[in-house]
Amino acid sequence: MYHLRIVLLLLFGLNYFGNASIAQTKTYSKKEITKLTDEASRYLKEANFEKSLDISKLALRSSINANDLYSAAISYITIAANYAEMAEFDKAIFFYDKSLSYADKTNNDTLRKRINNNLGNIYCFEKKQYEKGIKYYEKSLKYSQKLADTNQVFITRLNIAWAFFDIGLFEKGFPSLEFINKYNKKYGDATNAVAVNMLNGMYYGHKGDDNKATSSFLNAIKFGNEGNEKSDLSFSYLEFSKYLLKKGDYKKAYENLARYNIIIDELYNEEKIKKANLVGINLELEEYKREIDRIETEKLAQLQSLNKSKIIVLLFGVVFCFLLLLLYTLFRNNNFKKKANATLSQTNMELLVAKEKAEEANILKSQFVSTISHELRTPLYGVVGITNMLLDEHKELADSPHLSSLKFSARYLLSLVNDILQINKIEDNRIILESLTFNVSDEINMVKSSLSFLAKTNDNEVVVNIDPNIPEYLIGDKLRLSQIIMNLVSNALKFTKSGEVRIDVNLSKVEGESHFLEFKIQDNGIGIHLADQEKIFDKFVQVGRKETDYQGTGLGLSIVKQLLGLFDSDVSLESAIGKGTVFKFVIAFDFNPERTTEIINNIQVDMSSTQIVKVLVVEDNRINQVITRKTIEKNNYKCCVVDDGYAALEILEKENFDVILMDINMPLINGFETTRKIRLKGIGIPIVALTAFDKAEITEEALSAGINDIIIKPFDSIKLFKIISILISKSKSIA
Ligand code: ADP
Repeated sequence: MYHLRIVLLLLFGLNYFGNASIAQTKTYSKKEITKLTDEASRYLKEANFEKSLDISKLALRSSINANDLYSAAISYITIAANYAEMAEFDKAIFFYDKSLSYADKTNNDTLRKRINNNLGNIYCFEKKQYEKGIKYYEKSLKYSQKLADTNQVFITRLNIAWAFFDIGLFEKGFPSLEFINKYNKKYGDATNAVAVNMLNGMYYGHKGDDNKATSSFLNAIKFGNEGNEKSDLSFSYLEFSKYLLKKGDYKKAYENLARYNIIIDELYNEEKIKKANLVGINLELEEYKREIDRIETEKLAQLQSLNKSKIIVLLFGVVFCFLLLLLYTLFRNNNFKKKANATLSQTNMELLVAKEKAEEANILKSQFVSTISHELRTPLYGVVGITNMLLDEHKELADSPHLSSLKFSARYLLSLVNDILQINKIEDNRIILESLTFNVSDEINMVKSSLSFLAKTNDNEVVVNIDPNIPEYLIGDKLRLSQIIMNLVSNALKFTKSGEVRIDVNLSKVEGESHFLEFKIQDNGIGIHLADQEKIFDKFVQVGRKETDYQGTGLGLSIVKQLLGLFDSDVSLESAIGKGTVFKFVIAFDFNPERTTEIINNIQVDMSSTQIVKVLVVEDNRINQVITRKTIEKNNYKCCVVDDGYAALEILEKENFDVILMDINMPLINGFETTRKIRLKGIGIPIVALTAFDKAEITEEALSAGINDIIIKPFDSIKLFKIISILISKSKSIA
């Protein structure tokens, strides 16, 4: 057995017998490493394990550093063989496994053959793990056959046969026995002869072929005694003794067993001496193992750090690629953005132009609507005025259907024009709410009385109910409020027959100066269908009306909604067909007693005066001249009419007037210019502008020209006289 194990170690080759200089720091060349491994093998053969291990360690470190995998495998084999020789079989197996891993790395079949055979030896004959060992032998056999190493094939098959026979599996071992018998002469030598004969003895003994068995055993013993294979000889005696015992030949069995014991004792003594030599180095064995482990760990760490570096380089590469990609994407995005921006700026430019055009168109539309409305209002004012005059002067025409039709149509047209103008202004954000002191009750009653005719026509009663908690004077835009109420009440009166229209005003809450008034306009008329309740607030929407019915323009509720929007309010509607309709809204008005008194004081007018007032009317339109003159003279005032501004300046040189009513839109020289010239002459007579323009539109220019007040045509005569009185009394008090 021992002999077989040694056989393969000899195959390493002993090319170098010199002493290896052991220097830890030195870097060894491949050739030097080979010298080291050879030297280690030589020391092993000489059983100088300490030296062998020392040099192996150096060889291993150097080969790992030089990345010489073959030499590393050889170093491990020598280390493993050292341990096997010292009967440290577990360690031997550990290092053979290591060597096998290096042999695999180099793909070296010679090394694989050798290591597998040695592992087979240890497992079968030292560890007694036959099955495992036989597997290693079979692997070794495969590599030997591949390499056509017939000697090795022979030895391995011999070992396989022996292993199978040892565990009684004779038939399994027989093919190997046949093989070694066949090739014994060719490949076998004297050293194998003992074992070959012994195996034949064992097989034939098992088969009961006594002659062949006995002669085989005797041949084995003969070759053993002639040669030097003590161990194999001892096993031959032992197996022969077992055979004789089985045969019942106790005497001979005993004799052979005694011879076995003698040889074993000799071998044991040799082993003992060897063991004794080992005591010293055994202490260092652990140290060697640790050192070898350290070399491995260092190598692993190097590999890991190499791997890490590789990973870092790889990562860097990936990141770099990613950055490149990102850069490229950014570049493309940038280009795309540039293009998109160019398109956007182009579109923006186009939009800007379109917006400017739209704004221009809107301004033009507003101007157009405004101009047309003004142009329409002046003649309409004439039509309405003349109709009234006709009715005044010719009472017999009061019942004329033509005249009343004319009056109705003219009024309708006038209200349509006014409504369109109003909507236009709200939509252009040209309406700014005024802060005037007013009495809610007065405003409501004014609406009531101005709609009394309509109420009468439809046989309706108007009931007004004002919350007594509402302060007498509030501050706000009473004009817009009356417009809202007027629209809602006139609708209620229009769509109710022989019913009742209620106007309720309640103080819903007070927050500081703000008094929130809730207005409720309720009728018990025809009602509004649920489906129509939303759309009636749209412009020009009339529900269930005949085309010939001119009782409205379809703008009333739209104006109401938009005016309420100016007050930050909205209208709510509840209605049921046949039962009636309720419109509700809330507006906050300011209540400030101090400001109120001041405003009221300012408008205290002495209306008692019965003096004769001389009025100069500057008006180019003939019809308007007639209407205004009639109105003024009806109030017993004196009236002088001139056609244009120059005529006015001329007459003022000669005559004195109490007040001047000045038309604004006049040919040659307009009302503002005329006023400026009058003032330049140092004439301070109060001047009231009479205009179809909206008050807000001209106020600024009028005041700067020196005009004292503005009255919008068609004017309410009472209002006109009130203003005239105030202005005259003011100018007199100054004088
Ligand atoms: P119009 O000038 O036709 O009155 P509005 O905008 O004021 O226009 O009203 C739109 C429509 O709403 C009216 O034509 C009418 O059908 C309906 N409507 C308004 N108020 C009432 C009401 N109090 N009762 C019944 N229907 C009403």
